[in-house]
Amino acid sequence: MGEKGYEPKNGWLEMEDVEIEEIFTFNQEYADFLTANKTEREFIRASVELLETEGFKNLDELSSLKAGDRVYKVNREKAIIVAIIGEKPLSDGLHIVGAHIDSPRIDLKPNPLYEDGGLAFFNTHYYGGIKKYQWVSIPLALHGVIVKEDGSKVEIRLGEEEDDPVFYISDILPHLGKKQMEKKMSEGITGEQLNLVIGSIPSKKKDKEGEQEKETVKAAILSLLKEKYGITGEDLISADLEIVPALRTRDVGFDRGLLAGYGQDDRVCSYTALRAIIDTEKPAHTAMVLLVDKEEIGSMGSTGMQSHFFENTVAEILNLSNEEYSEFILRKIIENSQALSADVNAAFDPNFADVYAKNNSAYLGKGVVLTKYTGARGKAGASEATAEFMGKIRSLFNRSGIIWQIGELGKVDEGGGGTIAQFLANYNMDVLDCGPALLSMHSPYEVASKVDIYNTYLAYSVFFAD
Ligand code: MN
Ligand code: MN
Repeated sequence: MGEKGYEPKNGWLEMEDVEIEEIFTFNQEYADFLTANKTEREFIRASVELLETEGFKNLDELSSLKAGDRVYKVNREKAIIVAIIGEKPLSDGLHIVGAHIDSPRIDLKPNPLYEDGGLAFFNTHYYGGIKKYQWVSIPLALHGVIVKEDGSKVEIRLGEEEDDPVFYISDILPHLGKKQMEKKMSEGITGEQLNLVIGSIPSKKKDKEGEQEKETVKAAILSLLKEKYGITGEDLISADLEIVPALRTRDVGFDRGLLAGYGQDDRVCSYTALRAIIDTEKPAHTAMVLLVDKEEIGSMGSTGMQSHFFENTVAEILNLSNEEYSEFILRKIIENSQALSADVNAAFDPNFADVYAKNNSAYLGKGVVLTKYTGARGKAGASEATAEFMGKIRSLFNRSGIIWQIGELGKVDEGGGGTIAQFLANYNMDVLDCGPALLSMHSPYEVASKVDIYNTYLAYSVFFAD
């Protein structure tokens, strides 16, 4: 690249035929993984299974570490660190790819169950930045865990199999939708209207006078939950239950070049990062994949990027290595590290061209996106990569034949966003945002380009090998 100025290439034109075959195979595996794993817990469990078959060991079960060792550590079933110990000393720094595995969705309220108008519902509380109108009148699935009073866990995953029931949030019919249609789109469907239909058959229970009892649909659902899952109404209080689209990831277009699926932000980066570290052998620097929770709501909490899980795990790795342990060395390891904040960017959408700055947008098919800074307005809240680190990664990708492009999230003053980059940067390490671009980000069905997904995997791979 260079002589004519910056001009991103179309990945499909750059790939050899054998590579194009590999792109389709890789994406089919990714699509299946994405369909099967729609919550943090599911993603972590499937990651551990994959890692175990590839020779990675649980760090908790090891008493020492040496170069080449492949390890992982899970935090509360919702975050994971994967590492391969490098040939160089830890204090030379780690090469980290950090992504998040939470996605926008709808959660249940703590006391969700009620009956109204002859239907049983779950009250909900949405999670992350969603456009609420996109979540009505589509098939929804219920995933998660319920912890009973004795501490045992019950798992629910309903709405994914062909013969499963689905769940549903209703919308008003157009015939009566006049007032709704005159509202602003942000008010057309409100948070409190996102109530999930969960049942409609009343129990035949009569009261002492022989009259039909009230709220018998709710009662029938409660006895069904008791019978099927052994849970009580109060058990729903100690639960992580998530409502997600009951849709599988599928190819888009006659040519099958795109993939549509729920939760690609940011499981597309999480999956490609996992595959990249699995395929890494004997890295010079210790390679690390960091998959965290709660990015969509600010990275807070014990499982988010702002938790001490990351540095505690680095301390544990140092402690188990043959290097001297000290607080100073621990800080040096972290400070000398380099990170790709692996997250998605917005793809240019010709249907909404006016919010994108054409020369600074990412495009589907033009490779993995390097985002120098995020933020909003005058870069407020941005984590900006230094020119030096941006230059280093650009040079690495060019040397390695990675198809890449740059991208800014929309026009100046049009909006903005952020990633976990800022929290990694707080450790005084070099960080750059790097991941594929999506259409319809944060919708129930997000779209990415297969050639971009594959180049994201390649990009993380060469970063680990560097
Ligand atoms: Mn994201
Ligand atoms: Mn997001």
